[in-house]
Amino acid sequence: MKDESCIFCKIANGDIPADTLYEDEDFRVILDLNPASEGHALILPKNHFADLYEMDEAHLQKVLCVAQKVAKAMTEALHCDGMNLIQNNGEAAGQTVRHFHLHLIPRRSGDDAVKLWTPGVSVPDRQKEIVKAVRACL
Ligand code: 5GP
Ligand code: ZN
Repeated sequence: MKDESCIFCKIANGDIPADTLYEDEDFRVILDLNPASEGHALILPKNHFADLYEMDEAHLQKVLCVAQKVAKAMTEALHCDGMNLIQNNGEAAGQTVRHFHLHLIPRRSGDDAVKLWTPGVSVPDRQKEIVKAVRACL
């Protein structure tokens, strides 16, 4: 289902042109307008899902197959040394467009294209509490 007010719905369905690397029945893969590195791409489902939480099982199963296919082609074509897959959910996590998208960000040795986190220190008792709390919700 499309959301008429969603820009990524329009792009994914071809209503707004975008630099398309790959397209199938369910997904379009486009180049990011403000790339973190050369070749930075976004995998967009053609149906509207605001984020990972909303995505249906069929799309969830397919999206990593699309990611692998396109990542392999990008690596061969662009001669990158690595690839980050990043997927933000919610404003707190840095999501700016509320239509599920999976970033494919080509990396070159020594580049500074993506800074993800500063490693912290785990507290064993708290780790156990986290495990208990999450497992209770599964
Ligand atoms: P987010 O921060 O939501 O995970 O990522 C949104 C991404 O979409 C950003 O990297 C941004 O540059 C990209 N973006 C936003 N609007 C457009 C657009 O109209 N066209 C394209 N190709 N990329 C867009
Ligand atoms: Zn949408």
